[in-house]
Amino acid sequence: MSKVSITFLGGAETVTGSRFLVESDEAKVLIDAGLFQGLKQLRLKNWDEFPVDTSTIDAVVLTHAHLDHCGYLPLLVRQGYRNPVYLTSNTAKLADVVMKDSARIQVEDAKYASKKGYSKHDSPKPLYTEDDVDKTLTKFKETEFRVKTQVAKNTFITLFPAGHILGAAFVMLEIGGEKLLFTGDLGRNQHPILVAPDPYPDGEISALITESTYGARVHESPSSVFTDAINKTINRGGSILIPAFAVDRTEVILMKLRELMDTQQIPRVPVFVDSPMALTSLKHYRSAIASGDTEIRPDFIRQFANEDPFGPDTLQEMKTVEDSMKLNNPKNSCIIVSASGMGTGGRVVHHLKQMLPNPLHSVLLVGYQAVGTRGHALENGAEKIKMHGQLVDVKASIVKIEGFSVHADGSELIQWFGKGKKPNQIFLVHGEIESAEIFAQRLEIELKWAPVIPVPMKKYEIIQNPDKSLSDFSI
Ligand SMILES: [Zn+2]
Repeated sequence: MSKVSITFLGGAETVTGSRFLVESDEAKVLIDAGLFQGLKQLRLKNWDEFPVDTSTIDAVVLTHAHLDHCGYLPLLVRQGYRNPVYLTSNTAKLADVVMKDSARIQVEDAKYASKKGYSKHDSPKPLYTEDDVDKTLTKFKETEFRVKTQVAKNTFITLFPAGHILGAAFVMLEIGGEKLLFTGDLGRNQHPILVAPDPYPDGEISALITESTYGARVHESPSSVFTDAINKTINRGGSILIPAFAVDRTEVILMKLRELMDTQQIPRVPVFVDSPMALTSLKHYRSAIASGDTEIRPDFIRQFANEDPFGPDTLQEMKTVEDSMKLNNPKNSCIIVSASGMGTGGRVVHHLKQMLPNPLHSVLLVGYQAVGTRGHALENGAEKIKMHGQLVDVKASIVKIEGFSVHADGSELIQWFGKGKKPNQIFLVHGEIESAEIFAQRLEIELKWAPVIPVPMKKYEIIQNPDKSLSDFSI
């Protein structure tokens, strides 16, 4: 029997840089290839040489198109990865957008840093360019949901709808006779566009590798805080800036704004989507909703009477940089939705720089803010934040909004896998250490499970599953 091991190359004791290497005697599979984001010491890790010879990896599987799951792929390819990247068709479309945007931001930031001379490096370089992304796209191998696919010798994957963002999957990996279940980022039952995740699979599972981003939290329902903050700001003549992840969060926010305007809970002010990536993502969401073809598999997308449920009629798409600059310091009340969601890059940084010093405006934080990001500093009451080498005063009101998360919280995760058989091993990943520890305690108390919080870069042997029958592993 083949020995199977897993090494947590990223996404361990942190929420970013998801990279899990699974090895048997016959195959090596990497689940996700995410970028590290947030604290500088984490971001610097993106520059490290990949710890394994990438040409020896047989397959990469992507759970979904968020940057912390797919943003490292171009570097993997640049370092010699030659084999397919397995993913759903919607993840392929969105990962294309996300990686290209990441490349563009890095190239722009490197240029800006060298022009302004605030970089500590003599000639700042981007991590990767659009060329690297184009090479990566040629490796994509689209895989249908719920279809078992062979990816290497005695190695199979099945992707299941995860209800997190368009195309997102949780992954069953069967390798060397063991079954490993990766939750990726698991969604919630109440996503306004996607249906609930598929159920936790039946049968024996050797190892469950689960996210724990919100393991310590219980999500509140979207509250009136969002509506109140918008109304208060408009009443005092200010504008609202919503930093939002371009993929999925923008769509969810637009649907909410439309609903609030249609029910006259907020005034019909102009809404600007100011992020090229968000606009492309919006196009893919619209086409997934509008499409009746089988490739889109309508069983994981909710049905809408309206083909375009996103825009209030005041929605304006800011396509060019000139469009974006017109929004600087808006005179009349409006709502600007812009990426990135944690204020780490993209057009939102310019809006923050313009709007933060003005007490009339508000910044609504609607998403997860990783430690070390500007969003995290704002969330924690910073009076000044650093942008493009300058300190900017924070006078605008900063409002943290709960309820828009598309991650299952601790209770939702427990409910999801609590109905299944206890896996032989449980690893908690994709969570800050405190969150993972609290979630571990809950699993011990509520399910009598004994999870491990894996140490980054450490290799763990998968305990052999004594009950399995070999016939499970033929295709
Ligand atoms: Zn995600």
